Amino acid sequence: MPDRLPVRVDPYRLAEKGRTLSGELAVDKMPRLKLLLAGSSGDVECRLVFSKQVRQYFLTGHIKGCLKLTCQRCLESYDQEIDSHFSLLLVADDREAERVQEMAEPLIVVDDELDISTIVEDEILLSMPAIPRHREERDCLSHEMVNEIESLPDTQQENPFAVLEKLKKH
Ligand SMILES: [Zn+2]
Repeated sequence: MPDRLPVRVDPYRLAEKGRTLSGELAVDKMPRLKLLLAGSSGDVECRLVFSKQVRQYFLTGHIKGCLKLTCQRCLESYDQEIDSHFSLLLVADDREAERVQEMAEPLIVVDDELDISTIVEDEILLSMPAIPRHREERDCLSHEMVNEIESLPDTQQENPFAVLEKLKKH
């Protein structure tokens, strides 16, 4: 069993030590994400690297998983792969965030504490497709519909008069 990630961490302490946290997070623990899902079971795999470079603190990460979304073309649920890399520069407040915005994606840290699942949830929400749907349109057809199309008689594609001719002969 992979590890569960801690809920809250001190990112500065982890960055000083150059620590990496990896483990799984339950989708069920992410309320904003859950609202968008067709099914909230399952986990996402996360790898979070805390580092310090020239007096700046960074959190880089990788999130992988599979989410159940509702296809906006056929309204059936489907599996959406999530594979997201991100890099955040830790800052103390809005002012600092504005200052670094040009060169890095800022993340405001309040009281030297970060809520891991909130960050992971934010990153997943950012990496979600704008319009969730099956990758291929043909995947949208339900099984019954596919069978129906396949069982249609070939005569449908023939010239209608040729079909009439056939009927007359019988
Ligand atoms: Zn679909």
